[in-house]
Amino acid sequence: MEARLTTRRTRAANYRAWVLAKSTGLSGDQGQRLRALLSALPENPEPDAVSAAYQAAYGGSYDPHTLACDGCGEPHDALAEVGEEPCYESRTATLCAACLRQALALVGGP
Ligand SMILES: [Zn+2]
Repeated sequence: MEARLTTRRTRAANYRAWVLAKSTGLSGDQGQRLRALLSALPENPEPDAVSAAYQAAYGGSYDPHTLACDGCGEPHDALAEVGEEPCYESRTATLCAACLRQALALVGGP
């Protein structure tokens, strides 16, 4: 088991890297526009800049970098990611401090 800290910034940087490395699934004008906008950003971009690029390419107000706790569903700036590296069908939980404390109490922790 491995636990990692995930923040809006790390999530935005991972998303940028994923889009730029992806060779399929981003075809069409919108995908090409997103790729161009993200490639103009630094490797560790401001999360708001990545969200703005996404929204400029696809429209709407969807923010791919909102961090919500898997336990309580509330948004947070930083969460602990526990389990497998997140990807499609991975067994990963992303939890806030309050939910981690609650889980820890179940197994006799402080
Ligand atoms: Zn929570």
